[in-house]
Amino acid sequence: MFKAFLLKYAEIGVKGKNRYKFEDALVRQIEKALSSVDGDFEVTKFTGRIYATAKGDYDYEETVDALKKVFGIVAICPLVQIEDNGFEDLSKQVVEYIDKTYKDKNKTFKVNARRARKNYPKSSPEINEDLGEAILGAFPEMKVDVHNPDILLNVEIREMINIYSISIKGAGGMPTGTAGKAMLLLSGGIDSPVAGYMVARRGVVLEATYFHAPPYTSERAKQKVVDLAREVAKYSGPIKLNIVNFTDPQLYIYEKCPHEELTIIMRRYMMRIAEHFAKKSKCLALITGESVGQVASQTMESLNATNAVCDLPVYRPVIAFDKQDIIDISEKIGTYETSIQPYEDCCTIFVAKHPVTKPRLDIIEKSEQKIAQDMEELVKKAIETVETIVVE
Ligand code: ATP
Ligand code: MG
Repeated sequence: MFKAFLLKYAEIGVKGKNRYKFEDALVRQIEKALSSVDGDFEVTKFTGRIYATAKGDYDYEETVDALKKVFGIVAICPLVQIEDNGFEDLSKQVVEYIDKTYKDKNKTFKVNARRARKNYPKSSPEINEDLGEAILGAFPEMKVDVHNPDILLNVEIREMINIYSISIKGAGGMPTGTAGKAMLLLSGGIDSPVAGYMVARRGVVLEATYFHAPPYTSERAKQKVVDLAREVAKYSGPIKLNIVNFTDPQLYIYEKCPHEELTIIMRRYMMRIAEHFAKKSKCLALITGESVGQVASQTMESLNATNAVCDLPVYRPVIAFDKQDIIDISEKIGTYETSIQPYEDCCTIFVAKHPVTKPRLDIIEKSEQKIAQDMEELVKKAIETVETIVVE
């Protein structure tokens, strides 16, 4: 029944002279998303709107699912497009549309006609009124409600006539590739995939770094992170994932540093290494899944201590979110089930019983000075032996 989709966007509409760049980026992302769908589509930009028109048969569910993952789209409206064969024909088609789309006719409605083509013989209010009458005539149980209708029936008179009333919520955000690149510190937990998703939703391309510690962490734990990256990539596009073997640096810190400082020092080294890869790939920021107070390493003092080793800004999109808020997003985007698989990531194995919750930067720096020279070599080796894969 629906041969085309009207794809509405919101924020990119306010970008002034750059608007076309955002629109073109959105068109590209839509084309990409639809290329993996069963069916052929033409994606067109037409006076501030984007249409995806099927060239033949296609899988409706699959198409809507793919479109729902495109950042920048706020609403997906399946369209019936008809030729203009006079008003009588339009009335007939509108009645047929209502009949097919709504099994239960016990509903209120409003007709919202718009004429992009001013030479149409009726004015918009006339079209509203006459189509309303035709609908009431065909389905006496339906009622008009102009303020809060169950069905808002849009009829757009253009070269063709568009009829639509269904609006499926899109992913929102900005089209991928319109905002530069950032490096996500991706663990196997719940928070970092959500953090990555949130930043990607603003149009940022993601790269990711994962630290593992074989044999203390398993192959399954690593696979879990690859799977998470794949889930996020369904929205963000391909993610280059750097897998860093962190075993030797971690063992060395474990051996040499006061145990209550382990987590902070380990995290500071993770940040340094992630930043190294970030700079190499021209990322403009680091992203983590930290949230104030969640664990000892996420107090404001601890966050300051980890920040202190980075030049690049560190963005923490879930900083002020409760765990449950983060879980809600992870369920919505489809990462939750993978995140709760019980494979340990490296931090959980080398944790101290009583970590400092208010680390003093000068004390941490002093502990680090003692290991700095040997760590240089270990960090260098960790960087050299990185395993890089592209997840899509
Ligand atoms: P998450 O659910 O994202 O794992 P968490 O609540 O378990 O977070 P931590 O383990 O303290 O918190 O990690 C805080 C952040 O540090 C993570 O959100 C992630 O960005 C980063 N991080 C932690 N462990 C790793 C790792 N092994 N590899 C890469 N990044 C990591
Ligand atoms: Mg974690």
